Amino acid sequence: MQFAVVGNPINHSLSPLLHNYAFEVLGINAFYGRYCLDKEKDFRFLQTLGLKGANITIPFKEIAFSSCDETFGIAKKIQAVNTIVFCNNKIFGYNTDAMGFYECIASFKFKNTLILGAGGSAKALACILQEKNIDTTILNRSSERLTSFRGFETYTFDSFKPKKAYDLIINATPSGLENSFPIHKEQLIEILKQAQLAFDLVYGRETPFLQLAQSSKILIQDGKDMLVYQAILAFEIFMQSQGVVFDKNLLREAMKNFEL
Ligand code: NDP
Repeated sequence: MQFAVVGNPINHSLSPLLHNYAFEVLGINAFYGRYCLDKEKDFRFLQTLGLKGANITIPFKEIAFSSCDETFGIAKKIQAVNTIVFCNNKIFGYNTDAMGFYECIASFKFKNTLILGAGGSAKALACILQEKNIDTTILNRSSERLTSFRGFETYTFDSFKPKKAYDLIINATPSGLENSFPIHKEQLIEILKQAQLAFDLVYGRETPFLQLAQSSKILIQDGKDMLVYQAILAFEIFMQSQGVVFDKNLLREAMKNFEL
């Protein structure tokens, strides 16, 4: 059995490490690779390469959604998929980013969340938070992408005047990769004052956003656990589609303890 993560760029993806490690621990004879796609395509071509399924990443999650014959769960609402499987010449699509994120914060009781950024991952997070009845506001530097957040309170930096306290602040921008703040530092200091948790989707580094949150004495979390949880859920979908039975607890334990 072969699977892959498909995107562009793709070299940085840690998904092959996680999935191949899980195959090894569970004794499943399978391989997970990476595929750099140069332009949009109907994702059916992956099946002709012998893949049983794939994870889809930047910038193809929305186009992959349109390639699917059927989509399940919250993927319909987000209109983006990060996991596809091929069954009887059909493509079935799922979104495990949303639930992967929610598993990271499920033990907290949040009332109001502020998401910084309005891209694909912000949309997935906003949809799952709304589904869990957590009031969610979106703040983005420009207005264009905010139009896809119907039913949410949305602001650009210029129009934003906080009217309430946010207990969860999520950085869903890649600003940490550029070592910069997602919004003006002074604005961020004010917002963080009342928060319980600052969550940055970027992983593997202490971003300026998380450093500032830590100095404001609030809890911080980076994107590593989200990456792991979305991979666990995707792995379960892959194996289920192939009728492979395995120990789910062992999978969770292996992926969670894997040193990324
Ligand atoms: P998108 O490209 O779809 O969206 C990026 C958003 O961030 C846009 O709203 C953009 O604003 C804003 N933005 C970009 N750069 C900056 C900046 N320097 N300062 C402020 N705002 C900025 O990206 P995704 O939503 O797919 O991903 C966002 C981040 O989350 C990435 O770093 C990605 O690697 C990470 N991620 C992590 C996951 C995990 O499992 N841990 C899963 C998915 C994503 P504008 O509209 O104005 O362009």
